[in-house]
Amino acid sequence: MALRVLACRRYLVSTVFCIMFNRFVTCAGQCPITARHADPVPSPMQRICLGVSSCLLGNRVRYDGSHKCDPLIVETLGELFDFVPICPEEAIGMGVPRPPIRLQGKPTQPRAVGVDNPELNITMALRDYAKQIAPKLQNISGYIFKSQSPSCGTGDVQVYDNSGEPSSLGVGIFAQALMSYWPLLPVTDECCLAQPEARADFIERVFAYRHWQDHNQYGVHIDE
Ligand code: SF4
Repeated sequence: MALRVLACRRYLVSTVFCIMFNRFVTCAGQCPITARHADPVPSPMQRICLGVSSCLLGNRVRYDGSHKCDPLIVETLGELFDFVPICPEEAIGMGVPRPPIRLQGKPTQPRAVGVDNPELNITMALRDYAKQIAPKLQNISGYIFKSQSPSCGTGDVQVYDNSGEPSSLGVGIFAQALMSYWPLLPVTDECCLAQPEARADFIERVFAYRHWQDHNQYGVHIDE
């Protein structure tokens, strides 16, 4: 009950701030809607910030130059939160367009390799990038990942065995490393957010986490 009251109060405060500081930034690429982006390293005075897989905000960063703009995230959650867009594959210099990758090998410890060229292995590059960016995300209060992505998926990513056959589901390399660094950070993906109950649950967890951050001066992370 107390949590609901807290979430409700924060919702109202955020909405007022949203109206007062109406800072819209047009999505990169040709997404028809707009998203409000936070600074890459947000200050504690900002509205609640979420990390988001960049393609979900309409940025044309996917391997084929497309995006996966999600209006529910950009328009609905954009009323409550600022966003820090992150595309790990672009950030490690893969470029756009780039060769598609997939998870291959042990389901619990897969590699991110090229679909057409298994010699292309970006596993370590994605992990290193996660280690580099994670400490700078101390002020985000949640993360929305792109489902089914070998980099960003949180548990529904197809893993292939070494003969190239689908074998099981796993976690994207970047998402795994980030979630290990910030183990208490509320995370979700766009598929979960499409379900009203799961969406409400995520928002509530974000407000609770932010409240906890305010009292503890940022969350708990784990150094490897
Ligand atoms: S799923 Fe992740 S790696 Fe793939 S385009 Fe989107 S942000 Fe980039």
